[in-house]
Amino acid sequence: MAHDHAAPGELVPLAAQRREVLGRIAALEPLELALLEAHGCVLAEDVTAREDVPGFANSAMDGFAVRARDAHDGGRLAIVGEVAAGAASSRPLAEGEAVGIMTGAPLPPAADAVIPIESVEVDGEEVVLGCDVDEGMNVRPAGESVRAGEVILERGRLLGAADVGMLAAAGFGEVRAHPQPRVAVISTGDELVEPGRPLGPGQIRDANSYTLTAAAREAGAVSFRQMFVRDDRRALAEAFEGALSTADLLVTSGGVSAGRYDYVRTVLAELGDVAFRKVGMKPGMPQAFGFVGDVPCFGLPGNPVSAWVSFEIFVRPAIRRLQGRRDLNRPRVSAILDEALRSSPHRVEFVRVRLRREGEDWHAVSTGEQGSGILRSAVEADGLAELGEGRAGAAAGERVLVHLLTDRS
Ligand code: AMP
Ligand code: MG
Repeated sequence: MAHDHAAPGELVPLAAQRREVLGRIAALEPLELALLEAHGCVLAEDVTAREDVPGFANSAMDGFAVRARDAHDGGRLAIVGEVAAGAASSRPLAEGEAVGIMTGAPLPPAADAVIPIESVEVDGEEVVLGCDVDEGMNVRPAGESVRAGEVILERGRLLGAADVGMLAAAGFGEVRAHPQPRVAVISTGDELVEPGRPLGPGQIRDANSYTLTAAAREAGAVSFRQMFVRDDRRALAEAFEGALSTADLLVTSGGVSAGRYDYVRTVLAELGDVAFRKVGMKPGMPQAFGFVGDVPCFGLPGNPVSAWVSFEIFVRPAIRRLQGRRDLNRPRVSAILDEALRSSPHRVEFVRVRLRREGEDWHAVSTGEQGSGILRSAVEADGLAELGEGRAGAAAGERVLVHLLTDRS
C-alpha cells in the first residue's frame, strides 16, 4: 500500500498548480499557414470573403438550360449548342432555344432554368420537355454559398475538413492560425531499455516516452520522442537543451522525486526558471514546472500512471492553450459509483474508472488495482474519477465527477 509521503501542509493544492501552469502559458504566435498545415489549428483572424462563391450562376444538373417562360411540360425547344464545366461563356439564349449543359457549367445569358437530362427526350435537333419548369430551377446563383464581404470563418475557430475546403473554395491558399505546438518528450532513468530489446537485471522498458508522445499527439501537438536519457546531470542537460532548441514545450518523465539520482528537477532548475512542487494529487505528487527561455517545461514523475495522469491534468490543457484553444479541459460527467472507492484523505485522487450508461445516468466502477505503476488499469479506463481531499473514499451510490478520456461525452 502506498503512503502519502508529504505532510498535508507541504502540498500545493492541485487547483493552485493548474492555475499557475495555465496562467503562464499563452497561445503560440500566429503564422500564415498553408491550408493543410492550418487544418486542426485555431484561426487567428476573421476570414472575410473577397469574392462570391460560386462566382457565376451555374447548373446544378446535367441537362438543358432554358428560358423558363418558353418551357412547359410536352413543349419542344431547339437545341442550339452545349456548355461544359469550365467553358468560358456562350451566346445568349433566344426564344424557343435550349442549350445542353453540364453540372457546374455557366448558365448562358438569358437562360434561367435547367431541365435535368432525366426529364427530357432528345428528338434530333430538338428537345421534348417532360416536366413543367420554374424560373431558377436547378440553377445555382452566384454567391449562393458565400457573398463577397461576408465573414466565412471566425477567429478562434478550430479548422476542420469542411473549413479548409471552404477556404480553398473562397480562394484562400493560406490563413493566419496558431501553429501546432511542437512537443519534445524525454524520459529519464538508468533502468530504461527500448521496448524491442532484451531486459538485463533490474531493467524495465521505457513506457512513458511512448505514452506521453502519443498523448501529446492526441492533444493536437506535433510530438517527437527523444531517446531516453540516463540519470546523469551532463547527459540530461545536453538532451534537454537539444530538445528545447526546436520545441514549443518540453515534457520529461522521471527524476523529480527525492531519490539520490533524481537530477531532472535540479538540471531543469539550472537551465531556467523551473520550480519543483509537491502537488496535492494522487497519483502524480512530485511535479516540476517552469520555463527555459520561453519554452514551458514539465518534469513529470516516472511512475507510468503518475506520468500519464499528470499529463492529462497539466500538460494537455497547456498544449491546448498553446494551440490557442479555449476549451482546455476534457468533458466531465457526474457518475454514480457502483462500488465504494478508497482515496487519499490529503490529496485529490484520480481513480481510473470504467463508465456505463444506464438510462440518463452514467455509472462508474474502478478498473482494478490503482497502483501508480499499473498501466493496465489505465488501458481499461474510460475516465478519471476525481475524489476530493478531506475524506478517505466515496461510498457506493454516491455521485462523483469523472473526467472523460475522450473529447466527447
Ligand atoms: P522516478 O520518478 O525516476 O523515481 O521513477 C519512478 C518509477 O517509475 C520507478 O519505478 C521507475 O522505474 C519508473 N519509471 C521511470 N521512468 C519510466 C519510464 N520511462 N517508463 C516506465 N517506467 C518508468
Ligand atoms: Mg528515475
